[in-house]
Formats: sequence, structure tokens, C-alpha cells
Amino acid sequence: MPATTGNLLLDALSPELQAEILSLGRAIDLPSRTVLHEQGERSTYVYFLYSGVASVVVTMAEGGSAEVCLTGHEGLVGALQLLGPAPPPSQCYMLLPGSALRVRSEELSQLFLNTRELRVRILEFLQHQGICLEQTTACNKLHETEQRMVRWLLLCHDRFRQDTMTLTQEFMASILGTRRTTVTMVAGSLQERGMISYRRGRITILSHQELEKAACHCYRVCSDALHNLYRHPITP
Ligand SMILES: [Zn+2]
Repeated sequence: MPATTGNLLLDALSPELQAEILSLGRAIDLPSRTVLHEQGERSTYVYFLYSGVASVVVTMAEGGSAEVCLTGHEGLVGALQLLGPAPPPSQCYMLLPGSALRVRSEELSQLFLNTRELRVRILEFLQHQGICLEQTTACNKLHETEQRMVRWLLLCHDRFRQDTMTLTQEFMASILGTRRTTVTMVAGSLQERGMISYRRGRITILSHQELEKAACHCYRVCSDALHNLYRHPITP
């Protein structure tokens, strides 16, 4: 068995391949708000997160912005740029602080093209991201604010793995495409029902189980996809 690094993708690799990638990279701390890649620019580095949560955000030409997905210890920030030359339409930054193995994109790209095992696992991670993107796109159009907010909080909590998260109401409102007053109302209702406590921009998850009951089924789709990642052996 390979050593446990904390990153699920790295930990799913054979010991030799894991050691090779670890030797290419450098472990770094990633404080909150650290930018991992800029919108419209290919990044010099990709990041295997050990902890923390990275948020991928698209800003429109006229100024509004929206979060499109979250990544944590399950995968690799910058994986899309291993697939081709196009720059990302999004920016990615650390929403909640953590640490990562930072590897030069060019070096990982060579290994990705030459090593089937790494290719299979990274494609599996990208499939997982695609599943969540499809589900949340429909969710954002069709489900109520409370269901969407709970789904998002649970996905964040699964990745951060700490009960208290620093998340401002403005940020929550921008993610949910709603007004700050609506976030205040929904957070107040969840607090009254004993599921969270919310104080000065810090949300504490008090009952993951009760929140799951309040979420739409979109949470289950994304969480099952996360749970099943890297469980299938790679066939020769
Ligand atoms: Zn939904």
C-alpha cells in the first residue's frame, strides 16, 4: 500500500507512481483567498489538495460572478488543463484554508500522457466533477434556495472536514445567486431547527444528518460520486 498523504487521488495510486509525483512537487500551505489559477490563463502549477476547499468561479464580462464547483482533498486543481491547450474560463482560489502538493503543470502533463494509471485516475476525477457540474446546474435552476444552500454547505463540509467554516453572508449570497437578506433568513431558519449555528460569518455544522434530510437529492448524487471515487481497480 502507498503512504497516506491525505489526497484521495494520490492515495489511490501505486506506491511507485505516488512516490514519483511526490518527488516532482512541493508541499505548500494555502491560506484562505490564495489564487490557484487566474481566469483565462493557463497555470504554471497544478495542486493536489491535502486539505482545505478551493472554489472555481466564473466572472462575466459585465461584472457578475458565480461559483461553478468546489474541489478538496478528492482531486486535483488544474486537471482540465492536462486535457488540452485551452485556458480555463474560470478563476480558482482557496475558499477555506488548507495545504497541497504543488506540481509544475508541464511535468504532470508529461506523466499524464505517458502513464496509463495516472490518466485513468485523473479522468475518473474529472468524470466525478462533470457529474456534480451537471447535477448542480439543474439544481441551481430548479430547486429552492434552502435546498441549494444546504446542498452546498454539505458539499463544503465533506471536503473541509471541520465543523466550523468561515463563510460570509455576501459570499453565500453570490454562490446561491440570491440576496443577502434571503441567506440571513434561510440561515436563521436552519439555526432555529438546530442544524447549524451562524455567528459573525462563521457557520458551524451541528447536525450533518438533519441537514441531509433538508437537502435536495442533488447532494446525494454528488456525495455518492465522491464516495465511489477510485474504488474500482484499474484493469490492464
Ligand atoms: Zn438540488
